[in-house]
Amino acid sequence: MPNVTHMMSFDVEEYFQAEAAARGGLRREDWSRHPMRLGPSVERILELLGQHGASATFFVLGWIAQNEPDVVKRIAAAGHEIASHGMNHQMITRLSPGQFRQDLLDSRNVLEDLALRPVVGYRAPTFSITHKTAWALDTLAECGFVYDSSVFPVRHDRYGVPDAPRWAHMAKGPGGGSILEIPPLTRRCLGANIPVGGGGYLRLLPVRILVSSLKNADRLGRPGMIYLHPWELDPGQPTLPMSALSRFRHRVNLSRTENKLARLLGEFRFSDVRAIQPDLLKTSESFVYGRGHQG
Ligand SMILES: [Zn+2]
Repeated sequence: MPNVTHMMSFDVEEYFQAEAAARGGLRREDWSRHPMRLGPSVERILELLGQHGASATFFVLGWIAQNEPDVVKRIAAAGHEIASHGMNHQMITRLSPGQFRQDLLDSRNVLEDLALRPVVGYRAPTFSITHKTAWALDTLAECGFVYDSSVFPVRHDRYGVPDAPRWAHMAKGPGGGSILEIPPLTRRCLGANIPVGGGGYLRLLPVRILVSSLKNADRLGRPGMIYLHPWELDPGQPTLPMSALSRFRHRVNLSRTENKLARLLGEFRFSDVRAIQPDLLKTSESFVYGRGHQG
C-alpha cells in the first residue's frame, strides 16, 4: 500500500438536484414530486468504505439534512466527515454575496445539528467558484470555514479556473481572505489540465487512467481528491428531461461506478479531509483568485 493518503468525497444530493436536471427545466418547487432514492446508494457507499477501512468526506446539501435527516445521521454515525454543499444546489454565479453567506450559514446550522460535530469544509454546487465568483472565498474564510473544494483547475463550459494550482494550496480571495483549497484530481496532458478525479469523467474514463493518475500523485507525494455522487451508483434512477449532452454526462457508465470505486478503494489509501487537513495546511503554495474581476 503506498504511503500517500488520498481524499475520497461524495456530494450528497438526489439525482433530481443535479445541475443537468436544473438545466433540463426541473425547478426546486418540483423536487418534492420526485421519489427520493438516496438512502440505498449511501448505504452501499458506507458498506464499501467500511470493507476497505476508508473514511470519506460527504458534502451534504442542506435540503437533504431537512428532508432525509436519517441519511445524514447514518453517515456521521459511521465516522465519516460531514461538510456543506450549500442549501439548495444553486450555483454561486446565481447568488449575491449576501445570499451566499446566508446559504452557507443555514447549511452549516442544519448539518451540525445532525452531525453533532463542527462543519468546516465546503464544496460549491457545480464547482462554481471561478475568478468571477472569487469573492465567495472571502465569505468562506469570514464564516470560519477551514477548507474549500470548489475550484476545478480545468477549462469547461460551466466552471473552472484553468490556471489554478492542481494540488491543495492556500486560496486568496480578492478581499484578502485566505482558505485551504483542495481541487479535484487532474492530470497534465499536452500542456492542459485534464479532469479525471470524479463524476462523469471518472465514469467515462477507463479505470486504468484513474489508477495511473493516482499512482502519479503517489510518486509526487501529493494527496489527490476524488469525488462522486450517490446517484452515480444508482443506474435504476428515473430519466429526467435534459439535453442530449447533459443526459450523456449524467448517465454514462452509471452501472460501472460501483466497481470503479471498489477498485480505487482496494488499490489506494483514502481518508476524509478532516484527517489530513493539518498536513495540507502546511502548504507554502498560494494562489490569488479574482484577477480581472475586482469591483
Ligand atoms: Zn452537487
